[in-house]
Amino acid sequence: KTFEDCGFAPELMRAIAKQGYEKPTTIQCQALPIVLSGRDIIGMAKTGSGKTAAFVLPMIVHIMDQPELQKEEGPIGVICAPTRELAHQIFLETKKFAKAYGIRASAVYGGMSKLDQFRELKAGCEIVVATPGRLIDMLKMKALSMMRATYLVLDEADRMFDLGFEPQIRSIVGQIRPDRQTSLFSATMPRKVEKLAREILTDPVRVTV
Ligand code: AMP
Repeated sequence: KTFEDCGFAPELMRAIAKQGYEKPTTIQCQALPIVLSGRDIIGMAKTGSGKTAAFVLPMIVHIMDQPELQKEEGPIGVICAPTRELAHQIFLETKKFAKAYGIRASAVYGGMSKLDQFRELKAGCEIVVATPGRLIDMLKMKALSMMRATYLVLDEADRMFDLGFEPQIRSIVGQIRPDRQTSLFSATMPRKVEKLAREILTDPVRVTV
């Protein structure tokens, strides 16, 4: 399999080449066609597998495919991750591919000024990469609306549960329209995560690497 097989536009192919990604990793080979087709996915994969690009690249395509949504406010893509460090890594990976299209990404996690984040979100963005607690804070402050959010990713779901974020995740998911596309990635699949997946994903495809 190659990135060409995914049907990415030339700008995105150039951005991929610029990163030095010559061919898709195993998880990318499995996940990209599924997510690009619009299906929900449960991915059992660890950090280092290339799972970030497996949900970031289809997110860029998803956003570019929704011109009618551009009029509304708030992020189209919402990514939740357990820690600041992971959220920041995902944010950096997102920016690499979003830049080529002028898609705006914001990072929302603890340790940064809430007022600065509030202002940044108010200025508008198409993608938010967040830890669950800080995203809830921003939603309570009405820094952003989930009106046009249609692409949700829960990354390292098992770790988010370990850190006690289940209520926050459920609250965030509850604020996003049900006809969204949802991806859930997790290194392990404890019963509680499996239960959440059953509740919030629609007819998901499972991939394991
Ligand atoms: P991740 O598992 O998403 O944290 O990715 C692990 C590392 O692999 C990151 O540094 C990525 O930039 C890199 N990476 C992701 N996809 C590819 C690829 N197809 N070829 C080479 N490196 C990649």
